[in-house]
Amino acid sequence: MLTRIAGGRVIDPANGRDEVGDICMRDGRIVETPAGARADATYDAAGKIVMAGAIDIHSHIAGWNVNTARLLLSEQRQPAAPFAATVPLASAPSSTFATGYLYAAMGFTTVVEPAVAPHYALHAHLELVDTPIIDKAILTILGNDDYLLGLLHSKEGDAAIEDYVAWTLEMSRGLGIKVVNAGGAAAFKENVRSFSFDDIVPSYGVSSRTIVKALQRAVNALAVPHPLHVHCNNLGLAGNVETALTTIAAAEGLPLHLAHLQFYGYGKEGDRGFSSAAAPLAEAVNATASVTIDVGQVMFGQTVTISSDVLRQFNARRQASPRKWLILDGDSNGAGIVPYNYRRNDFYNAVQWAVGLELFLLIENPSRVFFTTDHPNGAHFTTYPEIFALLMSRDLRAQWISQLPPEAMTVTTLPSITREYTLPEIATMTRSAPAKLLGLTDRGRLDPGAVADVAVYEDTTDRAKMFRAAAYVFKDGELVVRDGSITRCRFGRALTVQPERDRAIERRMRAYYEGRYGLALEFLKVPEHALGRPEPFEFVPCAS
Ligand SMILES: [Zn+2]
Repeated sequence: MLTRIAGGRVIDPANGRDEVGDICMRDGRIVETPAGARADATYDAAGKIVMAGAIDIHSHIAGWNVNTARLLLSEQRQPAAPFAATVPLASAPSSTFATGYLYAAMGFTTVVEPAVAPHYALHAHLELVDTPIIDKAILTILGNDDYLLGLLHSKEGDAAIEDYVAWTLEMSRGLGIKVVNAGGAAAFKENVRSFSFDDIVPSYGVSSRTIVKALQRAVNALAVPHPLHVHCNNLGLAGNVETALTTIAAAEGLPLHLAHLQFYGYGKEGDRGFSSAAAPLAEAVNATASVTIDVGQVMFGQTVTISSDVLRQFNARRQASPRKWLILDGDSNGAGIVPYNYRRNDFYNAVQWAVGLELFLLIENPSRVFFTTDHPNGAHFTTYPEIFALLMSRDLRAQWISQLPPEAMTVTTLPSITREYTLPEIATMTRSAPAKLLGLTDRGRLDPGAVADVAVYEDTTDRAKMFRAAAYVFKDGELVVRDGSITRCRFGRALTVQPERDRAIERRMRAYYEGRYGLALEFLKVPEHALGRPEPFEFVPCAS
């Protein structure tokens, strides 16, 4: 079946294309537009914008931490018509079904859950398999685990660490490796309450820097496309820009991705000792070609912070709003769930909001700054359309700034920034660049052979409205959204990477797990059938 999207403005930065034209799809792939051939189905895109499906590289949508947050905040259940009202746990964060539908309605077709402990990978994948429409992936967390710290303590060589990283990716079915406050959670278990890049984990005698560098080298040596994904130390603290700058300098020419950099963009200037340090941070990113970042934009309103940075979450527990929180101990990182309400009239929250936008606007290359709210930590992902609009309009930013505490705006550069993102820049940041960063070479683009994930938007001046409800979304060539409403429920798959490794690691890991936990390795392994549903899947509405 040949499907044609006819006469839209095709914005496809991967191929340097921005012109009015057609996109054709067959058997789930983009194909050449055949001369003279009649399409079996044609969708009129005249006056509309046509982009590849968007890709979110960092959004907490599944797994142990996320599900615990749903349970903690069950009173925030928000019905999202037409399904979620009848779905258990449809709260902030959203249920699996609401997640798939709400992302698809905005034209997103691939989403990465960025923080899964290897021992909980099966749980995360089973939730992802229950998340409709979008394709997905996990990043697997290492860096506070006993086995890695033990290798570093005993000064095993890089080869042993590479084998362990490759084995962990295979067992957990990850697309990349994340490190969360490297060494910080291990030190927290020894009553350490503050942990920086050159601090030492007491029992193991290794620094955060040593852990980050070892994992960075391993990911690079294994040719995993996505660079080591780093959640730095000292998240959220005044003056933590120094931590971020130190970590950027430690990239030393190898690829490194820093997550939700907004939460590290804080100086100590001003009467309150809290200010934006986004400008020097953006300058360092601009000057360090091997580093990419995502923002973790804050937006105002109720949300919940979910993090495997157990040290930080413990220290932030008294800021919980509503006043309940959960710290989960466990292997490696553990986790913390702390609900939080970002308030428009709060000095600190207003500075945080400004820092995120400054990073977006001061980092020059849209293929090195990625679009995230660190959902749900900075804001729910459904706020994305408002953020696109803010990036594209200086006037809109001025309106928001006029409603914020004036003293907060004096400690940021945001009011002076004139840049406005263009649609091709938005497409770069949300399509072509994330596909490249994740090594997903067949998406984020619209040339023949690419996956037929396509989003079509009305070209209205109200950019938030435009991005909130796509006119059409096609997943693998099939229409799944029309005018922002779901037209068909189908299921995507988890995307994984599997680097080569020495098979002898299997024997070592079997001995380790049997000796330490009394567990067989089979307990950890995520099976192939947990990565996707058999198609065609016949959807039964929840209400029936
Ligand atoms: Zn995160």
